[in-house]
Amino acid sequence: MAEEKCLFCGIATGKVPAKKVYEDAKTIAFLDINPRNPGHTLVVPKKHYETLLDMPDKEAVNLFASVKKLAGQVMTAMKADGISIGQSNGVAAGQLVQHVHFHVIPRFMNEGPIGLEGILQVKKMDDKMLDQVANAIKKGKMPASKQLTPEKIVRESAMEDEDFDLDI
Ligand code: 5GP
Ligand code: ZN
Repeated sequence: MAEEKCLFCGIATGKVPAKKVYEDAKTIAFLDINPRNPGHTLVVPKKHYETLLDMPDKEAVNLFASVKKLAGQVMTAMKADGISIGQSNGVAAGQLVQHVHFHVIPRFMNEGPIGLEGILQVKKMDDKMLDQVANAIKKGKMPASKQLTPEKIVRESAMEDEDFDLDI
């Protein structure tokens, strides 16, 4: 997306109003307009990058230092029992605003201790598949012989599980 049309670039330059809670030379943080809990904060680089993977390492490290700082400030200010940090890259991951951002979300014991991993169902994978995936990640590329797409993982696990009736 072009920077001129980017919502978070607009907030970074002050053209779009936001409840800013932190600012330094490279980073700003502001309250999420749809807070998951009071104090839900978004931490973003001032410079436009679509995803974390587009950022030079140095800038990403700098951004994460700010995320850690904000995590402490939000935790203290909201008297939170814990902090979740979330970050989505790409539409498939649920990224709605195409300007890299970290969610810093205060968590409280009375809402039940559910981690962010609670949003995805556990997929069944056998030892061979786990080895294939581990090797592919170590090499940083998909195995040429077998492309393990998420659909395939679900389908193959379903075939092994007799109780699982998946209509695909
Ligand atoms: P994503 O789903 O891309 O990880 O998160 C985008 C976040 O941006 C959402 O939590 C959403 O509530 C927040 N958001 C969307 N529009 C605005 C806005 O105009 N101002 C602020 N402060 N947050 C926004
Ligand atoms: Zn932007």
